[in-house]
Amino acid sequence: MSLPELKIRLYGDPCLRKKCAAVKEVGPGVRAVMNSMIETMHQAKGVGLAAPQVGIMERFFVLDVGEGPMVIVNPKITKRSGMAALEEGCLSIPEVTIMMHRPEKISLQYMDEDNRMMKMTCDGLLARVIQHETDHLNGKLIVDYASGPEREKYRGKLKELEAKQKE
Ligand SMILES: [Zn+2]
Repeated sequence: MSLPELKIRLYGDPCLRKKCAAVKEVGPGVRAVMNSMIETMHQAKGVGLAAPQVGIMERFFVLDVGEGPMVIVNPKITKRSGMAALEEGCLSIPEVTIMMHRPEKISLQYMDEDNRMMKMTCDGLLARVIQHETDHLNGKLIVDYASGPEREKYRGKLKELEAKQKE
């Protein structure tokens, strides 16, 4: 079976603004999509890719912070502590980076690609990516957190991306 071809949706695509639905069970079809998403993420040199970014309105994402690919399904952040500032980019919003303040350490409940319930506590880049991708599942993007000057700086770029979606 060949992997489904995926296209990364860009800013302005309505898929990026909707709340995704919980996954009941990971079956062979979804698993094939997950593998394809991992490939797409690696090709794009990203560290995370959420299902709505490829037009699939379900609560899961893939990530790889340099320790091998991981699949997170139905994430629920149960604990947050500390605060850290780090610039974030997004595969759906090319050439835009926003200085983001987020909790430094999180605890998470989720399901893996084999439908096992998992728990994890993490910090650093992994915690960062998980929070960014979980935002995607709720239709939230880094530009929503932009400061006044950042908004000003990227106004033209975002308009341009939006216009492209309407073509
Ligand atoms: Zn993103």
